[in-house]
Amino acid sequence: MCGCCLSGAACAVLEEMGLGAVLDGAVAQERVVLHAGNATAEFPVVRGLGGGGRILSRRVLDQALIDAATREGAEFCDETRALGVENHEDCAEVSVQSRGETRSLRARVVVVADGLAGRLVDGLLGRRIERRRGAIGVGAVLGPGTSEIRAGVVELALGAGGYFGLARLETGEVDLAAALDPRHVRMQGGVGEALGSIASRCDVKLNGLEDVAWKGTPTLASRRRAVAARRVFVVGDAASYLEPITGEGMGWALASGVSVARLVERGAVSWRDSLAGEWQGMHKEIVPRWRGLCGSASLLLRSPAVARLAIRTLGCRPDVASSLVGMTSRRFDVVQT
Ligand SMILES: Cc1cc2nc3c(=O)[nH]c(=O)nc-3n(C[C@H](O)[C@H](O)[C@H](O)COP(=O)(O)OP(=O)(O)OC[C@H]3O[C@@H](n4cnc5c(N)ncnc54)[C@H](O)[C@@H]3O)c2cc1C
Repeated sequence: MCGCCLSGAACAVLEEMGLGAVLDGAVAQERVVLHAGNATAEFPVVRGLGGGGRILSRRVLDQALIDAATREGAEFCDETRALGVENHEDCAEVSVQSRGETRSLRARVVVVADGLAGRLVDGLLGRRIERRRGAIGVGAVLGPGTSEIRAGVVELALGAGGYFGLARLETGEVDLAAALDPRHVRMQGGVGEALGSIASRCDVKLNGLEDVAWKGTPTLASRRRAVAARRVFVVGDAASYLEPITGEGMGWALASGVSVARLVERGAVSWRDSLAGEWQGMHKEIVPRWRGLCGSASLLLRSPAVARLAIRTLGCRPDVASSLVGMTSRRFDVVQT
């Protein structure tokens, strides 16, 4: 589940990896519309790094990444579930289950990228630390008639129980992704009702939310204290995540993947335990820049009154709003080793 908005910085990482073709068919982000109650702000997206942000369905993006990896010699195992990771002196071992059959894979180095809900390395590194009373993620890809949103527009509606984002995908379908307070969902009697209440307060028209099969995530704001162990590196959301509000999660996940690659190469040739410490340090370097803007935005928008005030102010100063969005186009610090 995802908002499907790639920031300019995420697009730049893909270009730098020689994967620019992955973005063929993506819709360019042209405008952002923000709503909080009766306050609205609309402003253009500044084209910066990576040619600006794009909108692309995860179905297409993920398949394009799988195809690119396969072309480079990776073996992609579909419908395969990793059950556990163990590390030994001379290798790491992953047990995997595919079509009812369980087998064990041994590798010199393992990169764990099992996302926000992943629990693969809990045994090795301990459980994730979650923000108390944090929001959960909810979303779905919906039919074209769900919203009247135009292609190239990213719309965000904020309310007391959370916020949701809308974007029209390259297929014409509408992607809806939300961060909701689970108490609000319970109080409203379900996800569709909770989203409907935010939409109606913001005067955003949404149709047919009744019978949607929503996907969900655990608490969004969570992280691991340790992101590496002997012969094991953790990257992307599996290591740390905050909130989707600034649309930087995919860029951060890509940047952390690129950064860890050099350590993987070195570890595969000859493992030294100091490599785990190196990734811990590099990860600390990449995370703060990413968390800075996202953390400030989510903190600011937690109060509906503050969100309304901020959006009214941005409505009068579209230049400031555009520069703030432009901040998500700042280069991710891919750490070289
Ligand atoms: C509501 C919401 C909206 C968002 N909107 C945006 C946005 O607009 N732009 C943006 O950049 N980011 C957005 N994000 C964040 C973005 O989705 C993530 O940051 C990004 O997908 C992280 O990539 P990842 O590879 O680390 O994890 P994921 O993309 O979550 O991939 C993890 C993969 O591991 C698989 N997996 C898990 N456990 C196992 C196992 N045991 N065995 C095998 N496979 C396993 C999962 O099935 C999944 O395919 C949003 C997130 C949420 C919750």
